[in-house]
Amino acid sequence: MTVLLAGGLPDEPTIFTMAHELKHHLVDFKAGTLLCRTDEQAKRIEIGAEVFAAELIYPERDFVYDLFRLIRGMPQSVGPETLAELKQKTETTLSYAALAKRAVLLRLAEEKAFKEIRWQDLQRRSNQK
Ligand SMILES: [Zn+2]
Repeated sequence: MTVLLAGGLPDEPTIFTMAHELKHHLVDFKAGTLLCRTDEQAKRIEIGAEVFAAELIYPERDFVYDLFRLIRGMPQSVGPETLAELKQKTETTLSYAALAKRAVLLRLAEEKAFKEIRWQDLQRRSNQK
């Protein structure tokens, strides 16, 4: 198997892409040569690879455990600041977008809480704490 990745990317997208491709290698190898596509036919395979990569990089169970420890209890609602702090403390390479998506899927946050968020600014502020 050969995996081609774009060169010069930061660690975060490189690690995610490698995990994504690992799913293709382990599960989708019967499909033969596979190019990551976004068309309707490939959607199911690609979503599976995204979920696999997110789970490999930062398992959902660890995310919930770390989040509850950070908040010290059951969160009422998780916002961008909390996720920025979580990312900074755990040093996970899972992206902010993936962390936010997971919080929404687990019904710990509403999707609108993450619209137009400037994650880099939040990260800078979180790092200064
Ligand atoms: Zn793919």
